[in-house]
Amino acid sequence: MLIVMKADATEAEVSGVVAIIQELGLKGHVMPGATRTAIGITGNQGAVDPSHFENLAGVAEAIRVSKPYKLITLDLRPDKTVVRVGDATIGGDELAIIAGPCAIESRAQAFAIAEAVRRSGARFFRGGAFKPRTSPYAFQGLGEEGLKLLAEIRDTYGLKIVTEALDEPGVDLVEKYGDVIQIGARNMQNFTLLRRAGRSSLPVLLKRGLSATLDEWLLAAEYIMAEGNYQIILCERGIRTFAQHTRNTLDLAAIPAVRRVSHLPVIVDPSHGTGKNFMVTPLARSGVAVGADGLIVEVHDQPEHALSDGAQALTLGQYEQLVSEVRAIHEVIAPAAVV
Ligand code: PEP
Ligand code: MN
Repeated sequence: MLIVMKADATEAEVSGVVAIIQELGLKGHVMPGATRTAIGITGNQGAVDPSHFENLAGVAEAIRVSKPYKLITLDLRPDKTVVRVGDATIGGDELAIIAGPCAIESRAQAFAIAEAVRRSGARFFRGGAFKPRTSPYAFQGLGEEGLKLLAEIRDTYGLKIVTEALDEPGVDLVEKYGDVIQIGARNMQNFTLLRRAGRSSLPVLLKRGLSATLDEWLLAAEYIMAEGNYQIILCERGIRTFAQHTRNTLDLAAIPAVRRVSHLPVIVDPSHGTGKNFMVTPLARSGVAVGADGLIVEVHDQPEHALSDGAQALTLGQYEQLVSEVRAIHEVIAPAAVV
């Protein structure tokens, strides 16, 4: 059920509707918009009777929702969500650039890369402290030590920190040291983790699962939103197909597909999406051209010595070039994206 308030509805009228929703044992999600406020209802397993709401003061319409998701949709919020991280945004007018190594490996490595990321004008620094590796014998990340280095980078360069939480205790740690909680592809359907991130006050970067359909991905975002965290960034990072020329197949059609149903910002990861250094820049360009709100890119000062994902890491010089190219593309397509 979706309650659309009249354009001139007062705050008291909105609170009145939320109170009735709570009396029914359900949860109301208030989404103020440019022209009207909508209230999504979650917690019901069957249909909710619209007659509870139709005659309440300030209510324009009570609409039954037939889609599997209720909160991530444009029906609830026709205006795009702009995720705010301090003074930086994702989903607004500016192209968001999140760059950094796959994993934080050492102070020297992390700072050398962060310096270049800062110089490029990007607002976000990425780097894993807890790595989800295919092999249990591969480098698993520096753990809390890595997070402490990330916090130092934030203090030194003013960059916002995007870093992965592998589990619920990991969310506690990212809350302590970071700015955005990354939920990795392998965890996209870890529902207890999604719920925990949904109770966080930090924004969540939700990567698409390796074999997730659009609906599964959006429903994973719905899990987070249903808990009350509306600051979510979707990330297309490639899916598993029969193709052997890339690590994953970057599904750029997912960007306009998400746009058509959801108000959430969506970014592209051309690093995991290709797995190959020489493909990262071309796919970053195309990601921006199809209308992504930003990019997340892996960069390393010495890719040949990287402890994880070296094959897809850009050198500092390649990264600098990428940023200037994608900014130029964004300037050309930005007016079209607004339409
Ligand atoms: C990463 O960002 O380094 C990562 C592990 O990504 P994904 O979850 O998309 O594989
Ligand atoms: Mn990686």
